[in-house]
Amino acid sequence: MNTRMLKMLATTVLVSLPLAGCATGDTTEVEGGAKIVEEGKLTVCTHLPYKPFEFNQGGEVVGFDIDLMDLVADELGLETKVFDTPFEGIQSGQSLNTGQCDVAAAGMTITDERAAVIDFSDPYFDATQALLTKTGSGISSMEDLAGKSLAVQVGTTGEIYAEENAPEDTTLRSFEDLALLAAAVKTGQVDAAINDNGVLYDYVKSNPDTEVVTEFDTGEQYGFAVKKDDNEALLETINEVLATAKEDGTYDEIYEKWFGEAKS
Ligand code: GLN
Repeated sequence: MNTRMLKMLATTVLVSLPLAGCATGDTTEVEGGAKIVEEGKLTVCTHLPYKPFEFNQGGEVVGFDIDLMDLVADELGLETKVFDTPFEGIQSGQSLNTGQCDVAAAGMTITDERAAVIDFSDPYFDATQALLTKTGSGISSMEDLAGKSLAVQVGTTGEIYAEENAPEDTTLRSFEDLALLAAAVKTGQVDAAINDNGVLYDYVKSNPDTEVVTEFDTGEQYGFAVKKDDNEALLETINEVLATAKEDGTYDEIYEKWFGEAKS
């Protein structure tokens, strides 16, 4: 194939992606101008499970992020509808661009790379990377993983941190979600796993044969996200709802409900 044909092919692929997005249906606007993909619903993309931010409980998706999304939905007179989809597509903007949902709520860290392809709300939660091992493993740092295996979750900031900071002879093993990653540690498939501190501390509460041995102070902040340059009105509502919830104590109540202690 010559270069011109290759270029044409590349153009076709690029052009067909946004079209495929439109084919999933047009958006409607609610009062105030926020765009939604399904009438009467605030459709929320997330990746399950990410307990306590979003997970299944008695056939229902619940969690910290979901409670905050319910506040946004209430404000707009909508009902929250959760759409479970792989994290890679959420953080790359694909889920929002193809109209799978109006907003992404997935314990997602605000990064410059992501902010180039999606629009983030104001930060709503602080996080840092942490290391999970079997209790009493003797591993307590990244250096201790030399010659050992480390589980990472696909598409996450933990994966990037491990790629940049794990010893050269550490074997990185990819897992699609948090449950598989944590189970790999518990069952001894891997020596350790890296993920956000909030979810790992939650996991060890009900799995005392595992422990969080260290944190890496990555200084992350979670943000909700909407389609890039497309839904300013929805973003504004989210930011207003967050600000109000922080002021009137609702945020703290939701925090205590899912983390079992007052926010420090
Ligand atoms: N906070 C991490 C990130 O944004 C992990 C998010 C997740 O796995 N849901 O990459």
